[in-house]
Amino acid sequence: MFGKGLMTGMGITIRHFFGRKATFCYPEEKLTMTEHFRGGHLTIDYKKCIACQLCAIQCPNQAIKLKVVTDANRKRHLESYVHSMGRCLYCDLCIEGCAPHALSWDKNYEISTWHKEDLVHQVITDEDRAYLADVMARAAANPTPPPAPKAPPKPAAKPATPSPETEVKPGE
Ligand code: SF4
Ligand code: SF4
Repeated sequence: MFGKGLMTGMGITIRHFFGRKATFCYPEEKLTMTEHFRGGHLTIDYKKCIACQLCAIQCPNQAIKLKVVTDANRKRHLESYVHSMGRCLYCDLCIEGCAPHALSWDKNYEISTWHKEDLVHQVITDEDRAYLADVMARAAANPTPPPAPKAPPKPAAKPATPSPETEVKPGE
C-alpha cells in the first residue's frame, strides 16, 4: 500500500513523543545513582569506625592513608583519613572489608578536575574532628584504672616416679 512506511514511521515518532523520555536535561537535572554504584568521594560514619585500619591494609593500590590516635582509656580513634581518588580503582574492597559498615560512597559522578591535588580527599570532616577532641578530653578527664596484674602461673606438677616393685626390668 502506498504510504504504509510513512504511517509506520509517524506512529513510532508519535509514540516516543508522548512516551517516557529516555534523556534528561543535564546539568540542570541530575541522575540518581543506583544502590551499588561505586564512585565519588569516600565518606565515613565517624562514630561507627573502630580505627582497625583494615580498609587501608586491604586497599590494593595504597589509596588510603590514615592516622590513628589512642585516648587515655586506650581506645583507638582516627585522627586523619585521606583518600587519593587518583589512585583509587573503585574496587570496593575497603567498603566490603569494613566490619562496622562505616564507609560508603557519596555517589557523586561530577568529580573530574584539571588539578591533581583536587583528587586528594580529606574524609574526616570538621564535625568529626570536634567529636574526636571531645572524646579525647572526656577520656583524659575520666581515665579508667589499668587492669590488675595477673597472678603468676602455678608451677607444673612433677610426673610421678615409678616405685621399685612396679618397675619393669628388661627381658621380663
Ligand atoms: S575498616 Fe572501617 S572501622 Fe576499620 S579503620 Fe577503616 S573505616 Fe574504620
Ligand atoms: S575502592 Fe579499592 S582502590 Fe579504592 S580506596 Fe577502596 S580498596 Fe582502595
